[in-house]
Amino acid sequence: MIDTYSFSIFNFQFSILKNMFENLEIWWVTGAQLLYGGDAVVAVDGHSKEMVEGLNKSWNIPVKIVYKGTANSSKEVEDIMRAANNDNKCIGIITWMHTFSPAKMWIKGLQQLQKPLLHLHTQYNAEIPWDTMDMDFMNLNQSAHGDIEFGHICTRMRIARKVVVGYWKDADVQKKIAVWARVAAGVNDAHNVRCLMFGMNMNNVAVTDGDRVEFEQRLGYHVDYYPVSSLMEYFKKVTDKEADELVEEYKKLYTIKIDESGEKVYWEKVKNSAKAEIALRRVLKDEGATAFTTNFDDLGDADITAPDFCGFDQIPGLASQRLMQEGIGFGAEGDWKTACLYRTLWVMQQGMTKGCSFLEDYTLNFDGARSSSLQSHMLEVCPLIASDKPKLEVHFLGIGIRKQQTARLVFTSKTGYGIKATVVDLGNRFRLISQEVECIEPKPLPKLPVASALWIPQPNFEVGAGAWILAGGTHHSAFSYDINEEYWEDFAEILGIEYVRINKNTNISDFKQTLRNNEVYFMLNKALK
Ligand code: MN
Repeated sequence: MIDTYSFSIFNFQFSILKNMFENLEIWWVTGAQLLYGGDAVVAVDGHSKEMVEGLNKSWNIPVKIVYKGTANSSKEVEDIMRAANNDNKCIGIITWMHTFSPAKMWIKGLQQLQKPLLHLHTQYNAEIPWDTMDMDFMNLNQSAHGDIEFGHICTRMRIARKVVVGYWKDADVQKKIAVWARVAAGVNDAHNVRCLMFGMNMNNVAVTDGDRVEFEQRLGYHVDYYPVSSLMEYFKKVTDKEADELVEEYKKLYTIKIDESGEKVYWEKVKNSAKAEIALRRVLKDEGATAFTTNFDDLGDADITAPDFCGFDQIPGLASQRLMQEGIGFGAEGDWKTACLYRTLWVMQQGMTKGCSFLEDYTLNFDGARSSSLQSHMLEVCPLIASDKPKLEVHFLGIGIRKQQTARLVFTSKTGYGIKATVVDLGNRFRLISQEVECIEPKPLPKLPVASALWIPQPNFEVGAGAWILAGGTHHSAFSYDINEEYWEDFAEILGIEYVRINKNTNISDFKQTLRNNEVYFMLNKALK
């Protein structure tokens, strides 16, 4: 049976995929030199074109690769790197040395390159033509030699890059390029993200705070405060007709479930939620923002009984859930770092179907080897991870400035393996942390009507949660079923920030040593810069 809900989500994601990636380019630059004469360069050019066409036709790589010709001299390398820096469509460069390419000619260009770099160590032909190979063939097909020379200069210059090794037609090689391409698209997007904070961080909370100037320098995201009073100006202007139309959309998408609040309160709260959603959408659009945070203590006027009251009558949880689904970054309680990270996660995994969400560690369930952690939030969990059609419910929420009946989407998550990630500010640097988790079947929560997931941190609860705590991880995270560690590793590599992973191979002693080693590395690294 085709579930109409997930079917519509699939179509939605597919159209977004086309939009998000279709105007982006990855530039392919083939390294060579003029030592072997013009004929060799013509052959190198022909092979390169065929390889780029082959990669594009494979459909394994979601961003178009554009062949930019051969680079045969320091001047040519410099020209192409400068052009890449200045081209908004270009999100990264793939280099491959067809022949031997003396690496000093790459120095000045690499010094200037500001876009992500992937070095592909491959070869035009798969096998050695044993019977016919002569010295001309040898000189022409020298990536075994040229790529090593190129690798040396990158390492000597401390150039961040991804090295992918293997035959270019192999699906595994193409998939590694695809991961990097998606991450490069995410990094490119991050540089254009403006995150609006409606209210500040929740008072006294350390982990959601940090250095927003350094964050923009290192990760690209721009984070601004936005006055809630200005948001309320938008809210006031939303008409009943507009809200009613949006409520009709809710009726089509979700199961309407009216409980103890009663029908009158239910529809009133749902309609006000729709108004909040419309207001938020308009502010984000007008401000060119693709991420936001809320704070449950800052929702407009304090006194809801005042005659000229202007404020949200409830936390805009339903709006946050629905905006997250469309890729708007969200962090609760002013958590701008997780809001930004969620946005990037959503961009990177365009077209993938199992979903991603903002989540929070809620409550533990000790059960021996199957000990797990319930993930939820008051309201704000993204419906992309739902196992079934979400139920639209209204219940009392006794937290924050509004203790009110509040609309929300309720569902449980899919089961299976996924990865959670966060970024924390350690004072002298940002640390990206990822952790593999296994989402398992939860039991019903009749008295806790919120969306949730239940997971076992890998390798098990004791080591997984222990390592996360030692790393200084947040209680909030950006979670995905669709991507793996390789994405976050590429992301941190491109940005030059620290990355630590927690997975089935983690043990506490080694993990602690990694944290100590990184402390020294990043201290020295900063001193050298
Ligand atoms: Mn929270």
